[in-house]
Amino acid sequence: MSPLSPLSPPQDPEFRAFLAYSAEIGHDRLLVQGPGGNTSFKEDGVLWVKASGTWLREAESRPIMIPLALDPLREAVRSGDPRAETALDFVLPHDGLPHDGPALRPSVEATLHAALPQRVVIHVHCVETLAWAVRADAEAALTPRLAGLDWRFLPYVRPGPPLTRSLLALSTRNAPDIVVLGQHGLVVAGATVEEARARLGEVRKRLARPVRPAPVADEARLARLAAETPYRPAPAEAQHLALDPASLTLARLGSLYPDHVVFLGAGLVTTSPAASLARQSAPMVVAPDEGVFIRRDAPPAVEALTLALADVTARLDPAEPVIPLDAAAEAELLGWEAEHYRKRLARAPS
Ligand SMILES: [Zn+2]
Repeated sequence: MSPLSPLSPPQDPEFRAFLAYSAEIGHDRLLVQGPGGNTSFKEDGVLWVKASGTWLREAESRPIMIPLALDPLREAVRSGDPRAETALDFVLPHDGLPHDGPALRPSVEATLHAALPQRVVIHVHCVETLAWAVRADAEAALTPRLAGLDWRFLPYVRPGPPLTRSLLALSTRNAPDIVVLGQHGLVVAGATVEEARARLGEVRKRLARPVRPAPVADEARLARLAAETPYRPAPAEAQHLALDPASLTLARLGSLYPDHVVFLGAGLVTTSPAASLARQSAPMVVAPDEGVFIRRDAPPAVEALTLALADVTARLDPAEPVIPLDAAAEAELLGWEAEHYRKRLARAPS
């Protein structure tokens, strides 16, 4: 193919199966929250990877995959070339995405997809995985549970080239099929979509934990508390962050994974009583014993990450050795230009 002719997404059944699976996981809030998570497919020296800020659930309804020159991107990561940071210089000419905002960039995690040799790579912020990956003893706790699988654990490093380089440093022999990212999420890879799907299913099954039952919120009362404030009640499934003491204790520990920091800000903002909501400005606010509230003008990712925090904490016990991201990691995420871009782009899926 001439380098001048714009690329179109592959038409083969395996790529269509890849898009269908990407959309499927994008609809599962226990795997993907908002514009988080990303998938990729390698064909003929091209890495097709999700565009930053787009939602996986739209994988079949709009062209969200961008083609990158695979070998040059890999070489850039290996040599520490600063252009690997956004990977923008490695985007191949392609049929443009219909888009109403700034030009689309590859996922902030594109280099991670490039580094793994498998054809299909799936990166998700899997809640069942996170409930282990946020523990100080994550690797030891996971070892018996993932026994027999080809997996590795990577301690937290900022997503992007730093994380990719730590993966490359780790896999001295064949690249692993499964990588648990400490305080971040999960990567599974496979030669086919079916192989990747089976691996992801197996990891979820092995890491599944009971969900603590929570008190039921009084929705009429929540609506009264939020009335005439810039906030609305969060969905019922998130209210245990305020009503269940164990979930609240865990959420108060701090930011448990990167997308929390990017979309909700660092840590947890609490207010008491809820009547003081009008003076708050955070995208999500918890009024202990009263309710969880989301700013009415917040982008949809805020609700998605509020539900994620509820889903993760409902699987954890405050007696577990949970370690939040430290202040330096939070500052790095908040100051990271690539994440400002992703946040700006955050839009509702159509
Ligand atoms: Zn991630």
